[in-house]
Amino acid sequence: MASAAVRIPDPRHTRIPFDFTALGPQIFIHEGARQALERRLELAFGGPVQLAVTDNLRRMVSHTRVRGTRRVRVHMMFLGAPERVRQALVEYVVRGDRRASVVVGEFINANSHRIRASRPVLGPLRTRGNAHDLAEVLAAVNAQYFGGAMGDVLVTWGRHTRPRAKARSTIKLGSYSATERLIRIHPALDREWVPRYFLSYVVFHELLHHVIPAVPGSLHPPALLQREREFRFYERAIVWEQKNIGRLLRSQ
Ligand SMILES: [Zn+2]
Repeated sequence: MASAAVRIPDPRHTRIPFDFTALGPQIFIHEGARQALERRLELAFGGPVQLAVTDNLRRMVSHTRVRGTRRVRVHMMFLGAPERVRQALVEYVVRGDRRASVVVGEFINANSHRIRASRPVLGPLRTRGNAHDLAEVLAAVNAQYFGGAMGDVLVTWGRHTRPRAKARSTIKLGSYSATERLIRIHPALDREWVPRYFLSYVVFHELLHHVIPAVPGSLHPPALLQREREFRFYERAIVWEQKNIGRLLRSQ
């Protein structure tokens, strides 16, 4: 079933609505990123453009012309695409450039894991905890590190698997399910004493799993580990985890 596209305001100014309909989770589009791409298309086209960002399963790029206005629909993966790809997208849409279409096609192939989750998320998602609001954390990390292109990822407080009596020496703080396109954050992190930057780090790490698929034999390929260091408080987060893992284990 098609998800409804919702435009979100600047997360710095407004609380983000995070409602779910019976039709399934909605996608959240970074309005600033959408407008920037729309403006770019208008400049290249030399006329008005309406850009819609979609979560389509099949059509990644489409465009029609309606009374002088170019209506363009692109999959949300393009909002976070490298500059080279966004430029090719503009050339492809506006001029039908063939070389540009190859670049766009390759980008789609490389990002096919981002096309809508095959398994719908079961059960309600809980983003607002007692101490931290995961929707806020995700929106902030998405805006700061991914140009708002991660609006198709969902988040909830929840355990990856049920904790067993014996398995108390480790704790999985976050997990990412590609089939559900869902990040689960362990409820042990929903404490006042857990700093926001640490929670952001865990969410950032799980988002990297969404962007960089696992390779055979490694859930954390070098590209993922390298990218992880871009997180502003990376060192601080690692140190905090080492210092507090015991406390986290006791509070789970
Ligand atoms: Zn991981």
